[in-house]
Amino acid sequence: MYLVRLIYVSQLSEQFRPGDVEHILQSARSKNSALHVTGALFFNPAFFLQCLEGSREAVNQTYQQILKDPRHNHILQLQYQEIARRDFSEWSMGYVPDSARLAPVIKAYSRSDMLDPYTMSGESCYQLLLALKGLMA
Ligand code: FAD
Repeated sequence: MYLVRLIYVSQLSEQFRPGDVEHILQSARSKNSALHVTGALFFNPAFFLQCLEGSREAVNQTYQQILKDPRHNHILQLQYQEIARRDFSEWSMGYVPDSARLAPVIKAYSRSDMLDPYTMSGESCYQLLLALKGLMA
């Protein structure tokens, strides 16, 4: 069983409603636990940045579901690769809401104070999520 990591960015769609993040997280955590998928979801008023890790089959199955979700659009896969070990093994889906205390980390990985994963490499987005995870610990 190969372990893989998939990272994508997407934009909130017009169908997204306040409170949807909680529903998404509830659904993600129960489904991901069953599939042994782990990862992290960063959310701000403009976009989602998510990392999924697990078996190749489980990550692909989960990603196929996510692609169909009308609450976001302009989904761009930033990274897909085989990995030797998980980085988010303790998170069925860790949630990283945007906040002022993340600003120094975001600035370190961005061209400006505004985070825009569409202009970043997959590796930078991966390193950013690891750094954000460190802040949430
Ligand atoms: P249902 O809840 O019955 O959904 C049926 C369909 O309706 C699905 O296509 C769903 O996308 C859509 N839907 C559900 N609720 C709403 C709503 N309030 N408004 C509009 N459409 C709706 N799921 C995971 O399992 N793991 C994840 O890590 C994960 N991450 C996500 C990250 C993001 C940014 C988003 C937007 C969604 C994520 N989801 C995740 C949710 C996933 O897209 C599906 O909604 C979920 O898997 C449930 O789908 P379902 O078809 O089994 O169930």
